[in-house]
Amino acid sequence: MSGIMHVLVTGGAGFIGNHFCRRLLAEGHKVTAIDNFLTSSPDNIADLFGKDFTFIHYDVTHFVHVPGPLDAVVHLASPASPVDYLAHPIHTLKLGSLGTHNLLGLAKAKKARFLLASTSEIYGDPLVHPQPESYWGNVNPIGIRGVYDEAKRFAEAIAMAYYRAHDLDVKIARIFNTYGPKMRLQDGRVVPNFIGQALRGNPLTIYGDGKQTRSFGYVDDLVEGLLRLLQSDFHGPMNLGNPNEFTVLELADLVLELTKTESKKEYAPLPADDPKLRRPDISLAIRVLGWEPKVELRQGLEKTIRWFSHRLDLIPNA
Ligand code: UDP
Repeated sequence: MSGIMHVLVTGGAGFIGNHFCRRLLAEGHKVTAIDNFLTSSPDNIADLFGKDFTFIHYDVTHFVHVPGPLDAVVHLASPASPVDYLAHPIHTLKLGSLGTHNLLGLAKAKKARFLLASTSEIYGDPLVHPQPESYWGNVNPIGIRGVYDEAKRFAEAIAMAYYRAHDLDVKIARIFNTYGPKMRLQDGRVVPNFIGQALRGNPLTIYGDGKQTRSFGYVDDLVEGLLRLLQSDFHGPMNLGNPNEFTVLELADLVLELTKTESKKEYAPLPADDPKLRRPDISLAIRVLGWEPKVELRQGLEKTIRWFSHRLDLIPNA
């Protein structure tokens, strides 16, 4: 799809949603954002109000009404950090299920395309590595992370049902670990945790032995992938992430080097069901979208550290 779109973005005040809204506005599109500020902040949208940006303060687990035509519905609203979804387990399940259903219904009524933010968590603690879209995953449905994993698995299932039953133009982005400015320092994920700890000279908390791996993608790369996916004719799930894989210990050492701090490393128990390995197979995105991440971890961390270092005094010490 080319030309100017009117896009509804849920989670528009959150980390990825806010970056995505800004990118859409920069490309000349019209954006209506929805958010209930459960894990996000009105500060993120304060400078966006204008003729092309509208905001609705709303919880999408209830029936969603948006007046006028829409070209696309992009459902990014959800707690996404393990700490957040463990704090809001039932709401996380409702956002993936009821929220996705409401937004699919809206997209169908408006004859709009639908982009769902899914996650690498749907692969659980993977037995196939790296993870291609064809892998069905290894999820503990009743474990503590199940509230997020199963919410997103249900969201994918109902989105594909709308594609098959109603011919809705459905795209599903399976988003791998993403970091960058506008994350909340206290959101509990490893990148903001380590940066905050290092900048304050506190010990970096390594869960388990730190040999578990993740593949960290910079938010600008992700937003480019989301936009290309939204504008493509592709249907179904697609991995979006950076395939460069690091252990948590390697990440800690890089944060220590870049922040030039004397912080030590401190070991803490590994949370239940914490995946041991994670790396996306992105051959589908390369082939279909011509998309590949460009920002190396070192470069992305430098930008993120710079952003956090200017805001540290505004955020309470955890
Ligand atoms: N982790 C850690 N220290 C922290 C926070 C997280 O060692 O202070 C580990 C966590 O156990 C996991 C990895 O870092 O293995 C990534 O965790 P995160 O919460 O960022 O996201 P996940 O990929 O687990 O959803």
